[in-house]
Amino acid sequence: MHLNIFVSQKCFLYCKGCYSFSRIEKCGQFISTKTLVSFLKFAYNKGINKVTLCGGDPLTRKDIIELLKQIKSIGYLISLDTVGTSIIKSIKNNGEVIAEKTPAKEIAQLVDNIGIPIDGSTSEIFKLFRQSNSDLLSEQLKICEELHKYGANICINTVAHKGNLCDVYNLSSLIKKLDYIQKWQIFQYAPLGKYGILNREMFEITENEFNNYKSKVLKVLKDNDKIQFKDFKERNKAYMLIDNSGNAWIPVYDEKLFSDKNIKIEERKLIGNINNVDDWEKICNCLRKEDDRK
Ligand code: SF4
Repeated sequence: MHLNIFVSQKCFLYCKGCYSFSRIEKCGQFISTKTLVSFLKFAYNKGINKVTLCGGDPLTRKDIIELLKQIKSIGYLISLDTVGTSIIKSIKNNGEVIAEKTPAKEIAQLVDNIGIPIDGSTSEIFKLFRQSNSDLLSEQLKICEELHKYGANICINTVAHKGNLCDVYNLSSLIKKLDYIQKWQIFQYAPLGKYGILNREMFEITENEFNNYKSKVLKVLKDNDKIQFKDFKERNKAYMLIDNSGNAWIPVYDEKLFSDKNIKIEERKLIGNINNVDDWEKICNCLRKEDDRK
């Protein structure tokens, strides 16, 4: 089972379909570097060697470079899911700097796989899901080029949703031109997190629509082993999340739970909390399971 850790609650995009569960947590929550690193050392000794850092946007965490250095020195293969904006500029929100410019070189050296979102072949299509006043597409392409300069392994993450289905050929042609990227992951929109559930009618697509999207992508990028399609079902119970409160839990995509807009993590498959050392063993036992769906 894959381990995903929220290392920041902050994000500056306010996506209409934000699928991050961090939005249901109390504002300002975050796990301390000391606790996180101690837990990860313990987990590494129990055979866990891969971790994905997400959020919010992980690059809004003030000590992100230090945290990455410490996790890397334990021996982990690190994936980082970020919008990436701070790689090309510092980010301000209401006059306050919420992310200083992050050195692309260090990120490229410390992270094994950097996930950058691109959801449309134009900024207009991109903004159907994400919210920003910037020319988002140009920014994302600049971020990729900057990371590529330092030899980073870049993975483009695309959410296929109701608004961008018609863009599939143009987007596939654009991605095809980025021949330096390592991977293109395409996710079927999932009604996850507070806003993902609230706005599901704007974005949700059926399995058939996703399969259709898939075949159109493959028409442009034929047998390309860089492409991975992730449908909603496949992600069910497939990973463990450690949220900003330290809760380790497995998102269970059960329609009954998602129909309730006031999600409570306690109702999910809560394994333990990493702030409690006594829970570490059972969290690791659960992580070691290949597949919890059986
Ligand atoms: S979906 Fe990701 S990028 Fe968008 S607001 Fe949520 S955390 Fe930020």
